[in-house]
Amino acid sequence: MLKKIDRGALFLAKQQELFRCPNCHQKMSQKEKSLVCVNGHRFDLAKKGTLYFLDHQIKTEYDKEMFAPRGRMIRSGMYQPVIEKIADLMQTGNLLDVGCGEGSFLQQINQLKTNSVNIGFDIAKEGIYLASNQPFDAFWCVADLTNLPFADQSFDTILNIFSPSQYREFKRVMKPDGCVVKVVPQSGYLQELRATYHPDGEAYSNEAVIQRFTEELEIDHRERITYTFEIPEENRLDLLEMSPLEWQVSPEVKAGLAENPLKKITVDVEILKGH
Ligand SMILES: [Zn+2]
Repeated sequence: MLKKIDRGALFLAKQQELFRCPNCHQKMSQKEKSLVCVNGHRFDLAKKGTLYFLDHQIKTEYDKEMFAPRGRMIRSGMYQPVIEKIADLMQTGNLLDVGCGEGSFLQQINQLKTNSVNIGFDIAKEGIYLASNQPFDAFWCVADLTNLPFADQSFDTILNIFSPSQYREFKRVMKPDGCVVKVVPQSGYLQELRATYHPDGEAYSNEAVIQRFTEELEIDHRERITYTFEIPEENRLDLLEMSPLEWQVSPEVKAGLAENPLKKITVDVEILKGH
């Protein structure tokens, strides 16, 4: 069996035209275990077969302790109806997962619909490190959403699941007949968790995010999916660990909930497809 780094090099040899240099925006080509641009900027594959395109560290709202429980929740079936809808809406071919985290969404989607090329990127290198262990054919990198290391008109589908958007870059790297599929949390999303963590919190809304999508792209499909998920017993603590740092939950509240974990959780999302 090939080592991960050799698999990465093979991928780059075949797909080098999908990349462009994030420093000077010129073409890159594969040279052994690196991508090198015409001006000599060079990006070396890590042992895990991943590429790191950032020139500085960027702080993220997720830390590495959150990625593993998030992955287990995704694989527990919590998002199955959402994953099925994404697979239904997306176009196969070259797929880019924006803010892929530890890669479980992309892996689950590929079980339903196989793509010729899967690339996932995230700003958090801890997520990409875990993603490189996913048991399917994909290429993973650390990159900046606002300066994508990908060539113009390269992707059939851009997936944007619970992660920020940068429409200027999405439009640049999307093929002329490509699409963006975005999943946005709606007001009831994780409401049981929010009620416990922030009983006095303001009502939660992502209307501005949805509005922005409809302004930036032509809408092909828009659908709200709402259901209650019965959390398998072995995943009940995972749910507590997957919420963003910005929720700022006190250790006392978390400990209380860990003693008596939630058995059900609401999933309430808006799925948007546009081009
Ligand atoms: Zn360059």
